[in-house]
Amino acid sequence: MRTFAETADRIAATTKKLEKTALLAEYLKSAPVEEAAVAAVFFSGRPFPAWEETTLQVGGTLLWRIVKELSGRSDLELTAAYREHGDLGAVAGAVLPGGTETQSALSKIRLIFREIAAARGPAAKAVLVRKLLSEVSPLEAKYIVKIVTGDLRIGLKESLVEEAIAKAFGGPVKDVQRANMLLGDIGETLRLAAEGRLAEARMRLFHPIGFMLASPAESAEDALSYFQNAWVEDKYDGIRAQAHCSGESVRFFSRTRDEITESFPELPDALAGLPQDVILDGEIVAWSYLADDQPTDNGRDETENLEAPALSEVEGASPVLLKKTTGRALPFSALQKRLGRKKVSEKLMREVPVAYLVFDVLYAGGELVMDRPLRERARILDELLKTRTINHEGREGTRRKTKANPAITQSNLAFDPECLPSTQIIRAPVYQASSPEPLNKSFDDAQARGNEGLMIKDPESPYTPGRRGKSWLKLKRELATLDVVVTAVEYGHGRRIGVLSDYTFAVRDGDRLLNIGKAYSGLTDVEIAEMTKWFLDHTIEDQGFRRTVEPRIVLEVAFNNIMKSDRHSSGYALRFPRIVRLRPDKLPEEADTMERVKEIFQKQSG
Ligand code: AMP
Repeated sequence: MRTFAETADRIAATTKKLEKTALLAEYLKSAPVEEAAVAAVFFSGRPFPAWEETTLQVGGTLLWRIVKELSGRSDLELTAAYREHGDLGAVAGAVLPGGTETQSALSKIRLIFREIAAARGPAAKAVLVRKLLSEVSPLEAKYIVKIVTGDLRIGLKESLVEEAIAKAFGGPVKDVQRANMLLGDIGETLRLAAEGRLAEARMRLFHPIGFMLASPAESAEDALSYFQNAWVEDKYDGIRAQAHCSGESVRFFSRTRDEITESFPELPDALAGLPQDVILDGEIVAWSYLADDQPTDNGRDETENLEAPALSEVEGASPVLLKKTTGRALPFSALQKRLGRKKVSEKLMREVPVAYLVFDVLYAGGELVMDRPLRERARILDELLKTRTINHEGREGTRRKTKANPAITQSNLAFDPECLPSTQIIRAPVYQASSPEPLNKSFDDAQARGNEGLMIKDPESPYTPGRRGKSWLKLKRELATLDVVVTAVEYGHGRRIGVLSDYTFAVRDGDRLLNIGKAYSGLTDVEIAEMTKWFLDHTIEDQGFRRTVEPRIVLEVAFNNIMKSDRHSSGYALRFPRIVRLRPDKLPEEADTMERVKEIFQKQSG
């Protein structure tokens, strides 16, 4: 661990990427392969390989307490050190006395991390963390804490670790990237690179692959400036999920590569029994199977099975693919009730039915299809889901009777129960647009259907895992903004060391202020510097980590939506809040109220 920590310090000391990778490559090459493999994982800021679901579950507060105990420092002294260094790892390095271990092997540290992950409850974890930090040197403790908090803060992204592996063991970077993408394990990738076996890296089913990400588009015009012929889907507001299917085994993984199958027990069954192994990409949403299936003016359900015109020129937004769907997606707030549960009751499944909206395929027919254009992947996907329906109906005939989906009862059916099993797996409808007007119309339609906006995709683009490129664009409009009052502030991290840049804010409820969120992005450095001065002068209580301040500063914040939450006193929380601007023109008495929050919450849930 000592050499690891020394190398990390040296990497932090240079801003030049080439030097960083050179230093890292040199270290990886000189260490025994097993140690280097663990180091590669640690250098990407993780205690465990990316594909693993294991997490340490050791939060900042617990670490703070342990560092405080071991160092014998007061909160005030630690806060001063935190202000100076900007992260808890560096604080640990500066204040801990250090133990007697001279050089702990990285594999030993990894073993202890596994014990910490397996320990139940903060008290049991604290014992192990305390023991570990009391034994190692301050420099080692510095990096152990950084790994535990998930960020080394030495300007080293995983892509640089990949480059360093290529440099250390030879071979093109793209082979290393590919192996890492397939394995989700930079340590295993290093092992293969060291043995010259990178080409042997194979996709492993049930090991999640990185997700392709989208960039924001400002407007329909902006979106079409990237590609002329756009494929358009609704942007559903649920959670992204990668489905790995092999026969009767079906497992779902979230964007953070955690397994989430348990939260959605009704979904695996609906995808079981595919004739081949596949990996699908889509969004799990709360789904209304109810009265929303209203016929439209022309007497047809909007989502009814339309004859899909060929992909030739069609005026306006035309359906590329519209499958028979039965219902509509509900906003995230509805799905929230289903999240983070180990066990889902049948009652809850009935109350909040879910569906998997599939929009991509990554693996099928025994091979990865990510390099093929979306146009081709879409065809593979359609074919797959078609066979599934056929197989499903044949195979499921008797099974459906014995194992009916508890989420769906006759009472909430507005359609043919025979098509039930397939309704939980829905091919996301795709449209085509090549000019702004139909795109804007699609946007309005998507919002009218209760979805967030649009995803605009280049039909010629490959699937690029883990990258935020311009082949997928997202178009959404702010739901609303809220004017809120800052009630507490914290020092920032990294570039924001020493300035009060993290703001907790509240809305009004009669005479009271109730906290509803926390944001740290959106203001300029100059504004933050001015605000820091103001908050220091108007602190009510210095709580070490945090200061409660006079509630006089009004901010306008934007957010994706509002959720119910116990985290703040208002009982609500804003999802992805960001500061739009300071509102010096507003008094706290003019800030938004709980009524307004409830109104927006109702509107988005409606
Ligand atoms: P954002 O979370 O705002 O960055 O938007 C990207 C997210 O939108 C993806 O990660 C998906 O979870 C979600 N999403 C919803 N509908 C789609 C869709 N049709 N295609 C791709 N992503 C979608």
